[in-house]
Amino acid sequence: MTQTLRNSPPRRYLPVIEEGARGEFWRCGADGVLRITRCQSCGHYIHPHRDACPQCHSRDVTPEAVSGKGTLETWTVNRQKWFRGLDEPFAVGAVTLDEQAGLNLTTNIVNCDLDALSIGMKVRVVFENIEDTWLALFEPDTAKQ
Ligand SMILES: [Zn+2]
Repeated sequence: MTQTLRNSPPRRYLPVIEEGARGEFWRCGADGVLRITRCQSCGHYIHPHRDACPQCHSRDVTPEAVSGKGTLETWTVNRQKWFRGLDEPFAVGAVTLDEQAGLNLTTNIVNCDLDALSIGMKVRVVFENIEDTWLALFEPDTAKQ
């Protein structure tokens, strides 16, 4: 029986990354910049990626750099060891990016005391690289506002 080392990275199920703009969200962390698809006609951000804007139906959409800063809207802490190799507890949160109301990402909140999480706290992106995937996770933004 194989034992998981204490300092091994957490087990992740990685997405199948498509070519082009559709897969950009999973690759953009390579240079540390979060990119979200944006409509070039009306400026609406679209996440997850779509090939057409839900606001104006334009197909002129492309990933654009965003600040990587947002607000924690809600979260839950998983304390269940669903499978071997899973490091619990961990937080799953809904983050709204500063760029647009309702521009939400479901992600993990990391690098913090789980008991210190609060609705409305400011967070910033931090990437976790596994193979050719960069996962956009969020941590408390301790920078002065
Ligand atoms: Zn649009």
